[in-house]
Amino acid sequence: AGKARHAVFEPAMYEAIVQRLQLEADLRTAVVSPTDAGMFLVYQPIVDLVTGETRSLEVLLRWHHPEQGALPPSLFVPIAEHTGAIVPLGRWILETVCSQIMEWRTMWWRERLDPTAFPSVSVNISGRQLREEHFVEEVEEILRRTGVPASAVTLEITESVIMHDTEQSLRTLSALKALGLRLAIDDFGTGYSSLSYLQRFPVDILKIDRAFVEGVATEGSDAALARTIVSLGTTLTLHTVAEGVELESQRVALQQMGCQLGQGYLFSPPMPASQVLPWLAPDLNA
Ligand code: C2E
Ligand code: CA
Ligand code: CA
Ligand code: CA
Repeated sequence: AGKARHAVFEPAMYEAIVQRLQLEADLRTAVVSPTDAGMFLVYQPIVDLVTGETRSLEVLLRWHHPEQGALPPSLFVPIAEHTGAIVPLGRWILETVCSQIMEWRTMWWRERLDPTAFPSVSVNISGRQLREEHFVEEVEEILRRTGVPASAVTLEITESVIMHDTEQSLRTLSALKALGLRLAIDDFGTGYSSLSYLQRFPVDILKIDRAFVEGVATEGSDAALARTIVSLGTTLTLHTVAEGVELESQRVALQQMGCQLGQGYLFSPPMPASQVLPWLAPDLNA
């Protein structure tokens, strides 16, 4: 291929391209039966920063690849978004979550615990899904078929996705809101800095990105940003959730700012579905 090209075409680059193409192909077959392909869901508690009570659970996708082992979503979700595989995959996630919620609620009810007190579940929705023509109808159909009340589900959407096609997003989000779902803006603070859109969009929750939570107790600039987001939330009567809380000092700083909710390794890592009821009600299995 000539000397000039040889210098550019590094073996590491070649491997990266091959891995990407391999994952694209594997994702294409994985969507037919995600479970058989090694995919499953884990759930991470979102807790009250003062009482420690679990208020909701965020669903996170995991892929134990048969040859490559555990793959992080930061590697394969962007590929699935690029190829469109995230659309059938996202549908499977929503269906699996809704069946899971019904299973939990049934057991909860059997133990005579209040089913309405069961935490809501947050599902990540990618831009590709949101832009699907029949996304709202599909969500409605899954809720109806599984019997899950819309108020039990929160959809997490990143700021950049909302800003991508503002008018279209506004219509879709308003329709989802009308169904009774709750909406959260994920990674808040990392995307567009135009805040006026917050007034127009029917959102309920702001999730403060981990980048600001990291230095909330030690770095003036992180603390200032986090405080600004929390007071913005208070002004617009939105809930604020701090992501990636790992230290007690961060929890205290956030609580003092008036942030109500937090999520992170300090409280719990994401857990398999089987551990959720024991986590919520330790006496159940006694
Ligand atoms: P995200 O929605 O911002 O999810 C939060 C990420 O923070 C998760 O990473 C979670 O495991 C991680 N995390 C939680 N607590 C801590 C902590 O205390 N410290 C640190 N350092 N990290 C913490 P994960 O599961 O690797 O997911 C990464 C991203 O992949 C997610 O970011 C989301 O954008 C995407 N993703 C994951 N599951 C799904 C899914 O089901 N659908 C879609 N569309 N995207 C998903
Ligand atoms: Ca999220
Ligand atoms: Ca996030
Ligand atoms: Ca930071």
